[in-house]
Amino acid sequence: MAARRSASARSLAAQRRARHGRIGPLLEALEERYGPQVWSGPRLDPVSELVLTILSQNTADVNSHRAFTALRDRYPTWEAVLSAPTDELVEVIRPGGLAPTKGPRIQAVLAEIAAERGALDLSVLSEMGAREARDWLAALPGIGPKTAALVVLFAFGKPALPVDTHVYRVAWRLGLLPPKTDVAASHDILEAALDPEDVYRFHVLFIRHGRDVCRAPRPICGLCPLSALCPYYQRVLKGKAKAAPVPRKAPSGEPRYHDELLHGWAPRGTSAGR
Ligand code: SF4
Repeated sequence: MAARRSASARSLAAQRRARHGRIGPLLEALEERYGPQVWSGPRLDPVSELVLTILSQNTADVNSHRAFTALRDRYPTWEAVLSAPTDELVEVIRPGGLAPTKGPRIQAVLAEIAAERGALDLSVLSEMGAREARDWLAALPGIGPKTAALVVLFAFGKPALPVDTHVYRVAWRLGLLPPKTDVAASHDILEAALDPEDVYRFHVLFIRHGRDVCRAPRPICGLCPLSALCPYYQRVLKGKAKAAPVPRKAPSGEPRYHDELLHGWAPRGTSAGR
C-alpha cells in the first residue's frame, strides 16, 4: 500500500516537473507578443479590491466598474455600505448585474470581516503567506478560490493564481491540465507548477491570450505564437479539433478595458484612483 502511494506521489511530482518545464517557454513566447508583465503595486486597498471582485463576478468589467464607482459615490465608507438598507444597496449597484445576489453578499462579507477583525480592514493578510491569505478570504461567505486569489494577487502581490475562464481554457488546450480537471482543481495544479515570481505574469498573459487569440469556442491558431508547443493545435492539424480561420482584421493587440484594470487602473473614489 505504502509502495503504491509513493509510486503515485512520484508520478504526481514528475507531472508537476513536466508542467513546470513547459511553462517557461510559453511565458517567454507570450511576453514577446504582449510585452513583459510585472506586478507594480496594489491598484486598490484590499477591501476595495475584494468588493470590486465581487461586483465583477459573472459580468463584464465595464459593468462592474460602473457599479463600483456608483457604490463609492454613494457611500463614503465601508461601514456605510455595511449599514445601508440592502434594497438601497442593490439599487446602487444594479448597473453591475446580479445586484440582488451581490448586494447581500457584499454586506455579508463586510459583516464577517468586521466580526473577525474588529474593523473593515484586511491589512492583516499582508502578514500571511499566499495560501493562508487565500484560505482566509475563501472562508468568507460567497467567496470562492478565484475571487480569493484575485485579491491576494492584486492587492498584495502574493503568488496566488486566479483561474478564470480564459486561464482555464488556454491552460487546458496547452495540455497543462490533466483531462477532466475542473476549474476549482486547476488552481492548485497550475500554482504548484509555477515559480512564485511567475504567477502574476502567467495570470495576465493567459487572460490576454485567451481574449485575443485562444478564444472560445474556437481558437485562432493561425495567429498563435504557441502553436509549436500546443497539443490542441496538433489535433487541429490532424482534423480532430477545430480552429477559427484567421480574421481579415487581426486583433489589434491594443490593451482593452480589462487590461487597464490589470495594469494600474483604479476607480474614482479610491486611494489609487483620485
Ligand atoms: S495553438 Fe491554438 S489552441 Fe493552442 S494555445 Fe494557440 S490559439 Fe490556443
